[in-house]
Amino acid sequence: MPSFYRTQTLKIEEQPMFSEVNAASGAVWNDCCSQMDMYQWHRGYPHAHNHFYFGKDCEGWIDKKLSNPLLHSQSRQAVRERYFKSWKSYAALKKSGSIQKPKPPNKRKNYLTTRFKKSAIRFVEGTLFGKRVELSLAQGQPKIDIPLPSNFDMSKAEHIATIDLCYNYGQWTLHFSYRYETETPEIGEKVIGVDIGEIHPIVSHDGTDTRIFNGRYIRSLYRLRNKVLAEFSQAISRCKRHSKRWWQLTRRKWKRIRKIDNQIKDGLHKQTTKFVKYCQTQGVGTIVLGDLTGIRNTLNYGKRANQKLHQWAFGKIAELITYKAKSLGIKVKTIDESYTSQTCPKCGDRKKPTNRNYTCTCGFKYHRDGVGAINIRRKYLGHFGDPVVAETDFVRMTPPLGFRLEVPVASS
Ligand SMILES: [Zn+2]
Repeated sequence: MPSFYRTQTLKIEEQPMFSEVNAASGAVWNDCCSQMDMYQWHRGYPHAHNHFYFGKDCEGWIDKKLSNPLLHSQSRQAVRERYFKSWKSYAALKKSGSIQKPKPPNKRKNYLTTRFKKSAIRFVEGTLFGKRVELSLAQGQPKIDIPLPSNFDMSKAEHIATIDLCYNYGQWTLHFSYRYETETPEIGEKVIGVDIGEIHPIVSHDGTDTRIFNGRYIRSLYRLRNKVLAEFSQAISRCKRHSKRWWQLTRRKWKRIRKIDNQIKDGLHKQTTKFVKYCQTQGVGTIVLGDLTGIRNTLNYGKRANQKLHQWAFGKIAELITYKAKSLGIKVKTIDESYTSQTCPKCGDRKKPTNRNYTCTCGFKYHRDGVGAINIRRKYLGHFGDPVVAETDFVRMTPPLGFRLEVPVASS
């Protein structure tokens, strides 16, 4: 039976223990870094991060050397898992060469989100103090005791796989990750190509129809975020560091940014849900996404970042589409998206679009945002760049239709 995960967050009051616990996770991460250096050195790779040896025994070797007096053993293992996950994606990036200089995960951390696994989680109900969750630390350490809101749905507790203790811009949160199992649903046969663009978060094409999921609202939030950051840093730079006024402004800045980030997240959720539901009603069986690993290189972080979707959003959109589609039984595939925005879907010639419309010398004319999605779909189906002899494919093609996110545009 297929299963999927869903996360839910809960804001919580700070407890003095929290930063100590996340500092302990940071310390385990740093231990992983040093032990990795040691492992490499033992195997004759003193400059670990240019050339390294990544043997099967590596993870076990390092795990044996980790210890922490404060953390539950499974929370400690979660840090190690996270560390190795980063190493594996680093090794994959280095191998594929899609990013020029990928950074190895050897940066030391002061704090790190702590993950509690199932055996360290206990829900308590019906006490004088209301609903609570107890998170276990190492043996002999007091448990972390966190009150839950009275409307917290305890029946969902049995699905909980992990709880993460997160700190973000002055706010502590618990991230509950639920595991659900689904019946294998019936899915369609259609293949839909998706271009996660710089202007629009999602542009899709299914052979005849092109849909544009508008990104104006999300872009406006990014602009607002940059503006707020700029305004606050200017004000903060005028105060003495760590003075009363400095802290006041810093906290206010965090609060604003947190709110905007939540609005962005909410917008991305709404658009991806809308898209995946659209796929379901259209009988889509496979969603094809362009591979986004190289995107960081092509994006310019300068002034242009103001107008374009933040790099973070690319990954987030892909992640959201993937998990939402999977929960509906729709397959998600990724393919290399190079040249998909430049190639003419009709004759196969390459040409960079210069304005809103893509026009080719062969007479093909289409909205530029649709071209990427058409090509991603064709690439997956194996006829990317092949000239189309029969015109029928394009006769049926309809002009793109937009989906706007109906939310009032945020103002400062
Ligand atoms: Zn052409």
